[in-house]
Amino acid sequence: MYYDLHTHTVWSDGELGPTALVAHAARAGVRVLALTDHDTMDGVDEAAQAARGLGLGFVPGVELSVTWQGLTVHVVGLGVDAGNAVLKRALQGLRAKRLQRGQAIVQALGAADLGDARPILEREGIVSRVHIADWLVTKGHARNRATAFKRFLTRGGVGYVAGEWAGLEEAVDWILKAGGDAVLAHPTRYRLSGGRLQQLVRGFAEAGGGALEVVTAGLDAGEMGRLARLAHRHGLCASVGSDFHKALPWRSLPGGLPDLPEGCRPIWERWSLPSYAQGIP
Ligand code: AMP
Ligand code: MN
Ligand code: MN
Ligand code: MN
Repeated sequence: MYYDLHTHTVWSDGELGPTALVAHAARAGVRVLALTDHDTMDGVDEAAQAARGLGLGFVPGVELSVTWQGLTVHVVGLGVDAGNAVLKRALQGLRAKRLQRGQAIVQALGAADLGDARPILEREGIVSRVHIADWLVTKGHARNRATAFKRFLTRGGVGYVAGEWAGLEEAVDWILKAGGDAVLAHPTRYRLSGGRLQQLVRGFAEAGGGALEVVTAGLDAGEMGRLARLAHRHGLCASVGSDFHKALPWRSLPGGLPDLPEGCRPIWERWSLPSYAQGIP
């Protein structure tokens, strides 16, 4: 699979800068890459330039934090204009909410005698729980990132603070206004019952959503098949994304992420990619 339409850099919670991400993707055989950092497009210009240099197709994107029925879900915008005033204001709002949540978490950790995590709030990119998790590991409070999330940063943990993000319709609307396609990211990761997932997908489609992420890391063929049918039932296209955050494992090596299941309409069939990306299967 030559497309990878869901990746992160240091501007959100990824490990690589934009230039290094693009180089890594190119080495892995990706031909068309979307950068989709959480709630920021600050890495897009650098990534676009690096992609031009390497002859890679590039799609500017973003992954929006959304609250749906009290649950956090993610909506990816692909082909969005980073200069769009509506989207810019929306992203500023989401980042302000992230900073407020970060401040509340830092305060809660301090009150629990875990130390002073305030320096995290000074970082240039967005403030994510990932940065707080890594800080907890550095301070010896957790063995690794996953343990830090489990013990401190999810429901029941002393550093858990519920986020209140964008509405589903609102997020899709921003993406459409900025000229992009909205993709419901990693639909199986919300651990919804079949009925509630249907409800989410219906709401997403009715709001103007364009695609489900049918192929993403960690799904088996049965799960991808179910998502493909779900997309079809709601008139949605399909997208492919590794949700890459860290070097190793890069799961979108050619053949690393599987092809879209039969019968899916790829989201990229809607796009006319720049000349250097034409003719790529
Ligand atoms: P945030 O958007 O700040 O709430 O942080 C969510 C991000 O943390 C996700 O995008 C993942 O990259 C990462 N994440 C979520 N849960 C875990 C976990 N259990 N272990 C490691 N990383 C996680
Ligand atoms: Mn992330
Ligand atoms: Mn996500
Ligand atoms: Mn992601």
